[in-house]
Amino acid sequence: MTVRFTPVLLLFFALGAMVVPASANGATAPRFSQAYVIKATLDVEAGRLEAVEKLTLTNRAFTAIDHVDLSVIPRALGYLTMDEPVTVDGDEVETEWTTSINLRVPVDHLEPRETTTIRLPFRLDVARSPDAFAARTSFENGVLSFGHWFPIVSTEHEVYGLGDPQISFTADEIRLELETTDVVGRDALACPGLVSAPEETGTSWICESTDVRDFGFVVNPSFRLAARDVGGTELRVYTETVSGEATADLAEQALIGLSEAFGDYPWEDLVLAEVGSEGGFSMEYPRMIHLTRDKVADTYVVYHEVAHQWFYGQLGNDQQREPWLDEGFSDFSARYLMGIGENQCSTRPVNSEVFAWKADATTGGDWSSCDGYFHAVFYRGTEFLTAVRSAMGDDAFFAAIREWVTINRFGMTTGSRLLGHLAASTDADLEPIFDAYLADYEVVAPRRRHTLQKII
Ligand SMILES: [Zn+2]
Repeated sequence: MTVRFTPVLLLFFALGAMVVPASANGATAPRFSQAYVIKATLDVEAGRLEAVEKLTLTNRAFTAIDHVDLSVIPRALGYLTMDEPVTVDGDEVETEWTTSINLRVPVDHLEPRETTTIRLPFRLDVARSPDAFAARTSFENGVLSFGHWFPIVSTEHEVYGLGDPQISFTADEIRLELETTDVVGRDALACPGLVSAPEETGTSWICESTDVRDFGFVVNPSFRLAARDVGGTELRVYTETVSGEATADLAEQALIGLSEAFGDYPWEDLVLAEVGSEGGFSMEYPRMIHLTRDKVADTYVVYHEVAHQWFYGQLGNDQQREPWLDEGFSDFSARYLMGIGENQCSTRPVNSEVFAWKADATTGGDWSSCDGYFHAVFYRGTEFLTAVRSAMGDDAFFAAIREWVTINRFGMTTGSRLLGHLAASTDADLEPIFDAYLADYEVVAPRRRHTLQKII
């Protein structure tokens, strides 16, 4: 296996200051400031959401752009209707589906620092989703969960039935103004950043999150709320079938343990909500966790999903090309908190793409055999990180990861840069470990830090 050191600084200067170094093996963030305001009306009994999304984008690239790619996962599930025109700055535009979920919206030569507003009316008729999507957007047992549910700035890609189906980038703000067609209790809506809700019962809620790369919420008129403060973070747990206290205990332990290990949790609240599905896979969104009914108080699952608030929520990555960056670290974190090791039987590279396993658009794939996704990316990922931790020693390893989180908070990370950061954070020779667990990997040395001298 070849290890290549890419001199990033040289590349940067060779191509000139206009070029942002391309990411190796991962999605490069579109250079936008983005803010979403979604006004929606929900018929809880019918599972129907009528929404109008206003997306405000400012071009932060150095060149003009002529289109925006939006990921719209509900289209792959058959839930989406868009029969009103999309407008850009008030003018109707002709959009194009370039993959089954990628909506390309033309923006007329948007210059650097220029702002445009895209208006997208859409409707979702939600039904029971396949297992991989059961905790994302789904309607089961009277519970409506919304995850990966609205058109969001992304890279042009296809949906896939194994792993995470969407790549998104930190927005300045995502705001949901939700009305329900029927009166329900105040706690029927579980969302992060709840800024407005009825006193006891009603039909209007507002949720607003800043510095998040996505936004999920769950609606269930039978929800009970368990809330507590954890070191200044408001923890809210919404459940129907069990008391939320056991879940809150686990989430509290994870918040405390992972803040110590990887740096402070950066948002003011964390919400966990039980979805309607008995099984399938629980799912993480920034400040929000959707738990399937069989896993509401499962120690491993709650710890794993809270860990995603660091590895995915704060540190983005291309979850299709490099799923080990979020899943390997979340598995490692859960086991670290539980004090247990991995027990894996895979021979596949830890840095396998999700496409290494055959799957359909929204179903299928080998998730759980020895040769499957979990063993290779999650469990063997933990074995890999544990080997790196042993070689570096605990102090150096955790300090390096905390620094990695600080440098990249709310941005996008790649495996090649992480490996370069780890290698630069220790005198230990990590290359034999990289060779043993990774295929076709690259190590990108960290950018040199410049000290700016203030001239008085
Ligand atoms: Zn995960």
